[in-house]
Amino acid sequence: MHNHASQYLISAWRGEFVDAATERAFRAHSEPLMARALRRAVLVWALLVVLFGALDYPALGWTAEFQVLFGWRLATGLILVFFYFQVRRKPALATAGYAVTAVEIFGSVLFFLLYFLRHDIVTWVIGVVAVSLLALFMYIPNRVYLSLLAAGFIIAGMLFCVAINGFGIETLVGLTFMLMLPTVVGFFTALRWQVAQRQHYALLMQVMTVNSDLQSEVRRREALEVELKRQATTDPLTGLFNRRQYEMLFQRERERCNRLHQQMSLCIMDLDHFKRINDEHGHDVGDAVLRHVAQQLSCSLRHSDVVGRFGGEEFVLVLPDTGLEQAVAVLNRLREDLAATPVPVNGQLLRVSATFGVTEVQEGDAELEDILKRADRALYEGKGAGRNRVMTA
Ligand code: GH3
Ligand code: MG
Ligand code: MG
Repeated sequence: MHNHASQYLISAWRGEFVDAATERAFRAHSEPLMARALRRAVLVWALLVVLFGALDYPALGWTAEFQVLFGWRLATGLILVFFYFQVRRKPALATAGYAVTAVEIFGSVLFFLLYFLRHDIVTWVIGVVAVSLLALFMYIPNRVYLSLLAAGFIIAGMLFCVAINGFGIETLVGLTFMLMLPTVVGFFTALRWQVAQRQHYALLMQVMTVNSDLQSEVRRREALEVELKRQATTDPLTGLFNRRQYEMLFQRERERCNRLHQQMSLCIMDLDHFKRINDEHGHDVGDAVLRHVAQQLSCSLRHSDVVGRFGGEEFVLVLPDTGLEQAVAVLNRLREDLAATPVPVNGQLLRVSATFGVTEVQEGDAELEDILKRADRALYEGKGAGRNRVMTA
């Protein structure tokens, strides 16, 4: 998602995100909390409706008025409880607001009935309506402009009741002011709260975006590091270790074998008549053969063995924990495999063979160079003796 500032713009009067997708996401995000708060408010409301019913009987006795009020209270209570379960089943009802508003409008009808049926407390009823208007905004989670709609209905209904009861315009104007007061206070309080919630959400989302950007940057850098390391340690054509890397690995293996008093061998392998392959089939085919041979070397040797590219068509094999005799056996197997399996390139099969010069690493050997020279001498002898063989030194 893009992180434009406009994405988190909040409308001043509705107190909602201007961007529909952002508003949708916010509602989904706040749905569980809103639904829980709404269910609690609805239960308290139902409780109050029933509780206040206890005051009807002492005032009215078993009269028709009492029965109408009782019936209406019961219906309201049942609708509230029904709505409670609906919200539990479908929490989105809490954030959409329409069902809540309908319930609010239905529930307010009780006030109008009370106004006509409880003559003893007419002025109290108006006070209760004023408090209820405030509660409507503050305690019943709803979209603030829908709360305003419900409040408008309640005020209009109340004015209508008072008007048909015969009160004059002065009383109506006074009552309007009296009921507007909690409505205005409630509206702006709820609006501020609603905006604050969304600002908080926008901040959270922006932090999360920054965080995930950071994480993907870290991942990108980690991948880059792996790639750089690969490039620094391997030969680009064959993927085998380059000089620096096999020299380092050789030293490490040498120290380990010394410590464990194990033997260790080193071999240089050179492909036979490789110039011919280049001359007859081209340099590209020669490269493909080198890659193939490199692959074969890596696959057939032990995991602990080190395979490096020494130069052109020459390879270095470091065989830790391997004496000369054992090394010769391993290399002969390798040599036979190489000579026996032609390399498939561009739809043709090319025969390749190699000559191996192998030597055992001695305690007296000072430098890797000395050992390589010894192996190279053996290799040279092998070339002279007819190639495709393993020679020791
Ligand atoms: P032999 O070792 O059996 O004596 O014969 P040879 O033909 O292999 O002789 P030499 O080692 O002198 O020649 C090596 C040839 O390998 C030279 C060059 O054409 C080729 N060569 C070296 N490096 C590469 C490379 O990276 N790619 C390709 N295609 N060829 C290479
Ligand atoms: Mg060579
Ligand atoms: Mg060669």
